[in-house]
Amino acid sequence: MKKIAIIGTGYVGLVSGAGLSDFGHQVVCSDIDKNKISMLESGEIPIYEPGLESLVRSNVKEGRLRFSVDPASAIRSSDIIFIAVGTPQGENRKADLSAIKAVAGTIAENLNGYKIVCTKSTVPVGTGKRIQSIIYSKKQQVEFDYVSNPEFLREGASINDFMHPDRIIIGTHNEKVQKIMKDVYRPLYINETPILFTSVETAEMIKYASNAFLALKISYINEIANLCEAVEADVHEVARAMGQDGRISPKFLHPGPGFGGSCFPKDIQALAAMGREQNSPLLTIESAIEANKKQNIRMIDKLKTLVGRELKGLTIAVLGLSFKPETDDVRGAASRLIVPKLLSAGAKVNAYDPIASENFKLHYPEINYFYSWQNAVNESDACMILTEWNEFRCMDLSELKGLMKYPIVLDTKNILSMLNLEKLDFKFDNVGRKPST
Ligand code: NAD
Repeated sequence: MKKIAIIGTGYVGLVSGAGLSDFGHQVVCSDIDKNKISMLESGEIPIYEPGLESLVRSNVKEGRLRFSVDPASAIRSSDIIFIAVGTPQGENRKADLSAIKAVAGTIAENLNGYKIVCTKSTVPVGTGKRIQSIIYSKKQQVEFDYVSNPEFLREGASINDFMHPDRIIIGTHNEKVQKIMKDVYRPLYINETPILFTSVETAEMIKYASNAFLALKISYINEIANLCEAVEADVHEVARAMGQDGRISPKFLHPGPGFGGSCFPKDIQALAAMGREQNSPLLTIESAIEANKKQNIRMIDKLKTLVGRELKGLTIAVLGLSFKPETDDVRGAASRLIVPKLLSAGAKVNAYDPIASENFKLHYPEINYFYSWQNAVNESDACMILTEWNEFRCMDLSELKGLMKYPIVLDTKNILSMLNLEKLDFKFDNVGRKPST
C-alpha cells in the first residue's frame, strides 16, 4: 500500500485517485477548487462519468480515498505525488504550464521527506526537467525522484480505460523508482498490462505523438469523406474496408464535424508549437489543424445549402453539446465553434444535450436550453446533430418530422439512417455520404 496524493481533482485526477484507491492505496485527492472538494466531501461527483460515483463511494467507505482543499497537507502526508492539473492552450498555441509550475512550487515548499513526484498531466517535452529544477531551486536538502506517467484515459469510458489500459508508460530509468511505480500499478501489472519504461522526455513525447496521431487520423478521414461527397462514394464503406486492414485499424475512422474535446485540439497545437520551436516543423500536424478548422466551417456551409438561404432569422435546433457522448465536458466541442457561428449569422439556437447543457450555459447563456430533443426541435427550421448520444441514434424520425417547421436535418455524426430519412422526405445531409435525393 502506498500513500498517494493527487494534485488536481478534475477528470484525470479524480478517476486516477478513485482507481488507485481501488488498487488498495491510501489516496488523497486535492484541488484548489473549494467547491469541487466540498461536493466530493458531501458525496457528490462534480463531473459526469459513467461508473465513477460508485467507485468513489466504495473507496471512500473503505477509508482509502479522501479529499482535501489543501494540496500542501496532501503532499506532506504522502509518499507519491501525482500532478494532474490542467494544461490548457496558452499563448502562441503552446501549453499553458502555469498550474504545473504552481504545483511544483507547492511540492517544493512541502517536501518533508523522500517522495516521488509523478506527472500525469500532458506536458510538453522538457517540462519534467523544469518541474525538477523548480523543486531543486527551492529545496536542495530533501531528496526526491521524478517520473513522467502520462495518462491515456478517454472521458466517457475512463474507468474502464484506467482499469484496463493498453499500456502504462513510466518515464524514469531509475530502477528503485521503476519498482515503486510497478507496485503502484501492481493489479494491472499482474494482469500483464504492458509497462514501458522510458526516459522522462520519451514518455512526454509518447503522449503528444499518440494524441496528435489520432487527431491526424480523424482529419484524414474527414478529408476523405469530403472527397467521397464530391465523387459519390460512401465514406462509411471506405472506412470499414480501410479498417479491416490490420495495419490501419477501424478506430478513429469516423468522419464528422472535426476533432474536438479537452485534449486533441490543445495537444496537437502544443506539439506543432514544439516542432516550430525546435526548428523541426511537423507539416502533417500543421495540415491536420488546418483541415480541422475547415471541416467545422464546412458544417455551417452545409446547413446554409440545406436551408437554401442565409441563416438570419432561422431557428436552428442543436442536438448534442458535449464533445462526445457519455460526458458533460464541452471543452473543444464542435458545439463551441458552431453555436457562435450560428449566433453571429443571426440564427436563434434551441439546444438540447442529455448531460452537458449546464456546462455549455456557462459559455453561452443566451441560447435556449430544453430538457428533451422533442422540445428543442419543436417549430425549428432545421436541426443539427453534433454529438452521437444514443438517444439521438434511435430518435423516432416521424415524430421529429411532425415537430419541426421544416424537415431539414444536418447529421454531422452520420448516426441517422439515410434510408429512413429519405423515406420520410427529409431534406438532409451528413458527412461523406451523398443523399440520393
Ligand atoms: P481538469 O480541468 O478537469 O482538472 C484539472 C484540475 O486541476 C481542476 O480541478 C483545477 O481546479 C485543478 N488545479 C489547477 N491548479 C491547481 C493547483 N495549483 N493545485 C491543485 N489543483 C489545481 O483537467 P483534466 O481534464 O483532468 O486534465 C488534466 C491533465 O490531464 C491535462 O494535462 C490533460 O491534458 C491531461 N489528460 C486529460 C484527459 C481527459 O480526457 N480529460 C486524458 C488524458 C490526459
